[in-house]
Amino acid sequence: MLTPSQAGFRRLLPLLRPHLRELLWGGCCMVIYVGSFPLLVQLAGDLFPALGSGDLARVLQLIGLALLIFAVQKIAQFGQDSLLAGPALLVSQDLRRDLFRRLQTVELGALEKLSAGDLTYRFTEDADRVSEVLYKTIHDTVPSVLQLVAVLGMMLWLDWKLTLAILLLAPVIVWLISLFGARVMAATERSQKKVSELAGLLGEAIEGLPLVRAFAAEPWLQDRFETEIDQHRQARHRTYSLVALQHPVVGIIEVVGLFAVLALGAWRIQSGDLSIAGLSSYLTGLIVLIDPIAHVTNNFNEFQQGQASLRRLREIEREPQEAADPADAQAIGALQGDLVFDQVSFGYDPAQPVLRQLNLRVDAGQVLAIVGPSGAGKSTLLSLLLRFNTAQQGEIRLDGTDISLMRARELRQQVALVPQRTTVFSGTIAEAIRFGRRATDDEVRDAARLANADDFIRALPDGYDTQLEERGTNVSGGQLQRIAIARAVLGNPALLLLDEATSALDAEAEAAVQLGLKQAMKGRTVLVIAHRLATVQEADRIVVLEKGAVVDRGTHDELMQRGGRYRELCERQFIRDRQKS
Ligand code: ADP
Repeated sequence: MLTPSQAGFRRLLPLLRPHLRELLWGGCCMVIYVGSFPLLVQLAGDLFPALGSGDLARVLQLIGLALLIFAVQKIAQFGQDSLLAGPALLVSQDLRRDLFRRLQTVELGALEKLSAGDLTYRFTEDADRVSEVLYKTIHDTVPSVLQLVAVLGMMLWLDWKLTLAILLLAPVIVWLISLFGARVMAATERSQKKVSELAGLLGEAIEGLPLVRAFAAEPWLQDRFETEIDQHRQARHRTYSLVALQHPVVGIIEVVGLFAVLALGAWRIQSGDLSIAGLSSYLTGLIVLIDPIAHVTNNFNEFQQGQASLRRLREIEREPQEAADPADAQAIGALQGDLVFDQVSFGYDPAQPVLRQLNLRVDAGQVLAIVGPSGAGKSTLLSLLLRFNTAQQGEIRLDGTDISLMRARELRQQVALVPQRTTVFSGTIAEAIRFGRRATDDEVRDAARLANADDFIRALPDGYDTQLEERGTNVSGGQLQRIAIARAVLGNPALLLLDEATSALDAEAEAAVQLGLKQAMKGRTVLVIAHRLATVQEADRIVVLEKGAVVDRGTHDELMQRGGRYRELCERQFIRDRQKS
């Protein structure tokens, strides 16, 4: 089997299939365009002797004919270029679309390791380059190669001995082109990798700029940036130097070829094997060859650069994918929310379990608070419920059905997450709450009301149509949390997963968020990673997680009375709340 990098552009060919009609029409235009060259070469052969003999009528006749052929050729060229542009662009769009779809299903653990800047570069610059190369190949390289073949055929017909002598030069040219091509590709790959790294660093820099300033670390960052751009310049310079060397080398070979033809041509005329008209056609043919040779050489370089880009794009395909849904998955419909963890063990590295034979039971409509020190496995537990990860042992059952037997998308419609840090995409508030789901304006408003967000949203000048900026920087932290709560309850999930924010809000904002949460939790099973005293006090049950195992469970009062680990944790973690209350 071919690996993605070996297959290169060939793997894109099936993507051309839906565009056969345009390709066919474009191909017809191409045949007319290419076919006009031998005609012009033939005309030139007739023209030069007529010029030499001063036969004006014949010259004008030939010029008229040449103009006609030129006109047809240019119309065909227009048809070829415009008809073939569409399929080329559509293929690269298909490629981008498929890869993005693939990115959406990359395992989350693998995704976290990818750099946002680097991925952005691949999806924009690399994809553009692939698109450019595809277009050039279809509308420029292919006709140029055909033109070479047609004109060479014509030259063989005119004088095959002379042409074969010239063709002895061809392997040298092909060898040189491929020698340069391989080096250009390697150099391009290096420089593209550098730009990607640069994009990655830029992403980090923009995110971390406030911190950099706070630590007065600007000179350090500037140095790092300058080192990166210098390495990028060096890599780019190598590509330019190679191309700079390639042009004169190929040029010299072309000139040597031309002189060789002149010398050989004179000899052929002297021996009576070639007429002046034949040599005129022949020389015109040679001149007509120079252009496609230059195009093929340049395009080959770009093709190699495109190949490097395509390889980088295709690397995304090799990222591990989320586990597929079981083939016999059954539709789950609306759930009650009875949740059971039955002897569940899981480790990101199976040799190092993060959760150990965990048993939990939450009845429908109950609130379970999870407390424990950092690294105990609380977030991991939630990630298993969303099927971001799969338990290596044991079963998680929702309403009696093992969640690994459900379709992930259906499960996630029933399990909603309010994360610790709210992220929103730029767009309106209504869009942020909908998050791609189909919901009427009333449903959006109901969700917002439940999340205690309706009042503040309606008080904004544009209400639900207010544009949220990237990362929601134009609303307050508390408001953003309430938008996140509305987003979670919109689909009326049976199970609500809550990772309480640790950062402090002022008392008023906190109270607003708490009210939203309280309303959102009503009638649902809730698992909450608790950071607030009020939450644990109101939870139906609390489990204390430590090193992936439940070390204690009960209500807040029971656990406080029992003392031990929970009391210790409470006293440390909820100290802020205690001072407030
Ligand atoms: P908590 O939420 O209680 O702080 P986590 O569930 O985040 O704990 O982490 C539990 C353990 O799993 C930690 O040792 C952490 O380093 C590890 N861990 C968390 N996420 C990953 C991951 N994506 N890959 C590998 N290890 C991870």
